[in-house]
Amino acid sequence: MDPLRALADKHGILVIEDAAESHGAEYRGRRTGGLGDAAGFSFYANKIITTGEGGMVTTNNREIARLAWNLRDHAFSHERHFWHKYIGFNYRMTNLQAAVGLAQVEQLDGFVAARRRNALEYNRRLAGIPGITTPREASWAKNVYWMYGILVDEQGYGMNRDALRQVLADNGIETRTFFIPMHCQPVYFDQFRGERYPVAEDLCRRGFYLPSASSLQLDEIEYVCDVIREACTNLG
Ligand SMILES: *Cc1c(COP(=O)(O)O)cnc(C)c1O
Repeated sequence: MDPLRALADKHGILVIEDAAESHGAEYRGRRTGGLGDAAGFSFYANKIITTGEGGMVTTNNREIARLAWNLRDHAFSHERHFWHKYIGFNYRMTNLQAAVGLAQVEQLDGFVAARRRNALEYNRRLAGIPGITTPREASWAKNVYWMYGILVDEQGYGMNRDALRQVLADNGIETRTFFIPMHCQPVYFDQFRGERYPVAEDLCRRGFYLPSASSLQLDEIEYVCDVIREACTNLG
């Protein structure tokens, strides 16, 4: 974010963070959501804290805050009711959802601590399995492990990502692949035709998420890791 900020400042550009899944995460000791001019968080059901659906904008800029409040509520003008000087949206959150959200915020530190603990347990048990790459945490970062993602190297592990996911599924363990890069999405095919992004494509082919909920128990992590270790051992 620091290099991005410097670049943006040089050219007079605002920085808007996609902090959708990063509740509680830190960059150089500062919380995400406070690193740019504004940020968007998601409270979708699978995020670390949730209101079922919805999200929030964070900003330290009074002007942006006022505009966001107004746009969210049909852009009603202040001088006259039912009077619109620009186009707004119905992006309001209900009071009931907000009450759930406030109760969730009270539990955030506990959820994040559980996820960080679970990630360490996964790392410890998966270390040394050939062909499996576990997530690292940079010295300047606090990772909240919204998802615990690993990479599978077919040569080293003995089977590819999709085959391993099938073994896990056969053992009752649900997983998800990494996101698919934008240039591979049918809706953007024409826009990106002929362009290659090898890092994104490689992650898309080899990456997937293991069960990551804050409520995950130690014996469940053990079970997942045992299945992963045994799946490649059984090949030989
Ligand atoms: C979840 C997520 C979104 C979408 O959030 P919604 O609340 O569904 O709009 C966007 N970006 C990232 C990085 C996400 O994790």
